[in-house]
Amino acid sequence: MNKLTVRDIEVRDKRVLVRVDFNVPLDEKTGAITDDSRIRATLPTIQYLIDQGARVILATHLGRPEGRVDSKLRVTVVAQRLSQLLGKQVGVTNNCIGAETEKSIETLRSGDVILLENLRFHSSEERDSPVFARALARFADLYVNDAFGTSHRSHTSIVRISEHLPAVAGLLLEKELNTLGGLLENPAHPFAALLGGAKVSDKVGMVENILTKVDCLLIGGGMAATFLKARGYEVGKSLIEEDRLETAANLMQKASDGGVHLLLPVDVVVADDIDAEAGVVTVQVENIGKTQRIADIGPQTTKAFYEELRRCRTIFWNGPMGVYEIPRFAEGTRAMAKLLAGSQAATILGGGSTAEIATNMGLADQMTFISTGGGASLRFLGGESLPGVEALHDREET
Ligand code: ADP
Ligand code: MG
Repeated sequence: MNKLTVRDIEVRDKRVLVRVDFNVPLDEKTGAITDDSRIRATLPTIQYLIDQGARVILATHLGRPEGRVDSKLRVTVVAQRLSQLLGKQVGVTNNCIGAETEKSIETLRSGDVILLENLRFHSSEERDSPVFARALARFADLYVNDAFGTSHRSHTSIVRISEHLPAVAGLLLEKELNTLGGLLENPAHPFAALLGGAKVSDKVGMVENILTKVDCLLIGGGMAATFLKARGYEVGKSLIEEDRLETAANLMQKASDGGVHLLLPVDVVVADDIDAEAGVVTVQVENIGKTQRIADIGPQTTKAFYEELRRCRTIFWNGPMGVYEIPRFAEGTRAMAKLLAGSQAATILGGGSTAEIATNMGLADQMTFISTGGGASLRFLGGESLPGVEALHDREET
């Protein structure tokens, strides 16, 4: 990564504004945090700043309050969890900007941590506003971006703020860019991409770019239906993107031209209705009925994927193999998660659902790296530059 990081600058006694992505999932009823991975992932940066004697000001968004104060989306619950994880009191402000916030920040001593109230209570956050950027920047000396998961957005606290403060990368951002960048630049071969999830359209850019790097491409999940149909199979009522059939055909052609070994499902679990108990069967892909829809990969496919993946040294996984939210369609996804967890290969996961599966199965620690960014990781692997990264100081510049 060619950007300066928090390690490259003097932070002692400085007021350091750290943009983090603490947009954690909350339980609808109780409001409790259901997965704190994103908070844990930023601990190295926060702990580093504490140890260096910085005055740490954290800023995040949480949920989609759309520019209004929403009491359910206050960051208090996040500050509490962070306090527990750090073993240290983390204060919160009542507003992310304003005179009162500034006063609280003035009282910070070296090594103290405060969390600003939800940035998205102000609609200007999502508008890339110069005025809002100035209001945020006025109480800090330095800016650190550690919010990889939001860095594909040109939001005020991600991009515009760097016009007002020296701007460097946090340690999580650095790790994300180095790990995902490593997939594109120098992966250990054989390198496989295991792709699934709902739609092809979300991922075309990523698939196109990664196709030029991988030795094998394995496709399951909802997107497999579009590829199967493009190959001429009947896929019944499966989730299909008609306008992506040609895209899928092109991608398969590119794979073939590039000598990439492409694996599509050979058998699938189908159901007449995703919600219904009845009519769930496993069939060969050439026998999918007109009223059936694909809900998971079948056991022969799992085995074929297993055989392919076990000889690989790098595996990138994005997207579940089936409708994993429903246990009887989660088999294929669970099998892949276990396979990767037990693999000697470098295993790198991207995507919100994919990360959630590994975490819920208790396998997160056995993966080499799980990206905290869904959209951001797809964009980055698609070869796009991320606005939040572009805005930071280049290494050569100083
Ligand atoms: P990620 O968040 O890991 O990038 P996606 O958002 O692309 O993954 O896809 C996740 C969704 O894909 C899940 O909600 C899952 O139910 C859905 N999905 C997977 N397989 C199928 C399928 N065969 N039919 C319909 N939906 C599917
Ligand atoms: Mg998703």
